[in-house]
Amino acid sequence: MRIILFGPPGSGKGTQGDLIASRYGYPKISTGDLLRRAVQEKTAFGKKAEVLMNQGKLVSDDIVEGLVRERIASPDARSGYLLDGFPRNLAQVHILEAMDGGRPEVAIEVDVDSRILTERMQNRLTCRSCGAIVNPNLKKPRVEGRCGICGGELYQRPDDRPEVIAERFKVYKEQSEKIKAYYKAKSVYRRVDGSGSVEQVFARISEILEREQAGREADQRQR
Ligand code: ADP
Repeated sequence: MRIILFGPPGSGKGTQGDLIASRYGYPKISTGDLLRRAVQEKTAFGKKAEVLMNQGKLVSDDIVEGLVRERIASPDARSGYLLDGFPRNLAQVHILEAMDGGRPEVAIEVDVDSRILTERMQNRLTCRSCGAIVNPNLKKPRVEGRCGICGGELYQRPDDRPEVIAERFKVYKEQSEKIKAYYKAKSVYRRVDGSGSVEQVFARISEILEREQAGREADQRQR
């Protein structure tokens, strides 16, 4: 299945994406993670992207397109994938549609109140090595400052500072309505309540995916 996960900054789509990937076996393709890796590796793309990311602005569509195109073409993405953070504007919606195997079967919006989000983001730390997200207020890492999964260094993303968070929200608000309208018109839009625990949100998402899967199997049997 080809799944898109979108939602405001801090809505937990990265965490949910990891859970979906491990339960259903689809690779998670996160443009945020791919960009942060490019920044860390100081590639030409990375250097260009870093300035914009640290201001909470979107990186240019062609940079992101290149990253996604390459990743979607990998053999492990042939039977499906999960996109996290892409498409992020209407132009990217069309870029994705034009890619081979790019039409999503389901586009899930993780919807969370913006007051909850700001608080979550100011407190979260990200692993420099594997990209895992940790909120030390909710779950203390076993070793302080170190990722519980891979032992990598935990850091605060430069774009998780309050003034940048505000800009990221603004950008999200401007773009997401159009994305939502587009996927609604294609009947693939699904909304998920993103409040509550990670497990509660995952249960809601799983229900949608399993219903979707059952529907697809029934369709195939009828053919
Ligand atoms: P969040 O969803 O929490 O804001 P991400 O990790 O998805 O965080 O993205 C971080 C930053 O990376 C964005 O603010 C933006 O600058 C850049 N970025 C990620 N995905 C895209 C995209 N599809 N198009 C343009 N810029 C992107």
